[in-house]
Amino acid sequence: MANTLSNEKEVPAFGWAARDSSGILSPFHFSRRANGDLDITIKILYCGICHGDVHFAKNELGRHINYPMVPGHEIVGEVIKIGSNVKKFKIGDIAGVGPICGSCGKCSHCSKSWENSCPKTILTYNGHDYDGSITYGGYSNKIVVNENYAIIMPKGLPLEGAAPLLCAGLTVYSPMIHHGLCQSGQHLGIVGLGGLGHVAVKFAKAFNMKVTVISTSPGKKEEALERLGADSFLLINDQQQLKEAKDTMDGIIDTASGPHSLHPLIDMLKTCGKLILVGASITPPVLPYMPLMLGRKIIAGSAAGGMKESQDMINFAAKHNITADIEVIPMDYVNTAFERLAKNDVKYRFVIDVANTLNVSHID
Ligand code: NAP
Repeated sequence: MANTLSNEKEVPAFGWAARDSSGILSPFHFSRRANGDLDITIKILYCGICHGDVHFAKNELGRHINYPMVPGHEIVGEVIKIGSNVKKFKIGDIAGVGPICGSCGKCSHCSKSWENSCPKTILTYNGHDYDGSITYGGYSNKIVVNENYAIIMPKGLPLEGAAPLLCAGLTVYSPMIHHGLCQSGQHLGIVGLGGLGHVAVKFAKAFNMKVTVISTSPGKKEEALERLGADSFLLINDQQQLKEAKDTMDGIIDTASGPHSLHPLIDMLKTCGKLILVGASITPPVLPYMPLMLGRKIIAGSAAGGMKESQDMINFAAKHNITADIEVIPMDYVNTAFERLAKNDVKYRFVIDVANTLNVSHID
C-alpha cells in the first residue's frame, strides 16, 4: 500500500549533528518528512551510540556523508502519532528503530524480510528517505518512520538497556541464526568485547553454546568469564594461546572495529567452520588461500538484519532477559562519549537519555 501524506506537514525536529569529518556534534534544527498514512511518529526516549556512528560522523569508512549528519540507529521511544492506516501500533506504545527505516518492499530480498539487503534500503541516518529528503538518526527528539520498519518493544525489558539491541544485538543475532551458529554445544569465537561483542556473548550463552572471547584487552578477561559467562578468553596476539585454539571453533563472529589479521581466526576454525565479519574497517582484509581451501572454510559478511529478524531478536532477548551493559549519558556528553569509544573506553555501550537531556535550550 502506498504511503500517502494527505494534509500532513513536515515535522520540526532538533538534535545533535556532526558538521564535518571532525565528527564533533553540536545542536541542530531540522525537519522530518510528514507523518503519512502508514507512518508513526516516535518521541525518542533513548538512543545507543554504536561505533558505526563514530565511523560515519568522522567519515572513517570512505562513504559519502551528508553533513550536517545526525547519527543514531539504536532508537527506543514512545509512539505519539499514528497514520490513518497504521495497524501495528497505537499511541503510547513503545517502538524501536534500528539501522534501516525503509526499503522497496517489493524485491526478492524484501519478500524474504531481508530488507537490510534490498538495493533500495534506507538507512536510518545519512540515507535518502522515500521523498528524497536526507534521513536523520536518533540523537534527536522525534523520528517519523513507516510502521513496518519499527519493532514492538516487549514489555518488561528495560528500555535503556534494550536500545543497543536494535543494532548491536541484531547485527550479531542475525548471522548466528542465518548461518546456523546458534546450536547448543557448538563452539563460537567472538572477536572484540565491545558493544556488539558483549551482546554476542549473551546471545550465544542463551543458545547454550561454548563461547571464547578473542580480545586485544587483557583487562577484560575477568569480566568476560565471570560476569558475562564466557567459557574462555584468549588474547589475539598471544601465539601460544592461538596455537592451542587451532581447529577448535565451529564459527567466529568478528566484531572488531579496527584492522587486524584474519589468518589466526581462520586457523581457529574447524573444517567447514564459518568466519562472519560484522566489524567495519576501511582496510581490506588479506586472505590466506590455502587454509581456506584445505579446510573448506567460509568467510561471510553480515550487515544488521531484516525486520522479521529484528522483532525475533528483541523477543528472544526479552525471553532470556538479555540487555546491553550500558553507561547512560546526557546528550551534551556525546562528544566525550565519541572520544572514549574511539579509545575503547566503555563497558560496553553508551546510551543517551534523550528524553530527559536533549533540551531545545541547547539550540542556538
Ligand atoms: P566497540 O564497542 O568499539 O567494540 C569494538 C571492539 O573491537 C573493541 O571493544 C575491541 O575489543 C575490539 N577492537 C578494536 N580495535 C581492534 C583492532 N584493531 N583489532 C582487534 N580488535 C579490535 O564497537 P561496536 O559498536 O561493537 O562495533 C564494532 C564494529 O562493528 C564497528 O566497526 C562498527 O562500525 C561495526 N558495526 C557493523 C554493523 C554491521 O551491520 N555489520 C553494525 C554495527 C556496528 P577488545 O578490547 O576486546 O579487543
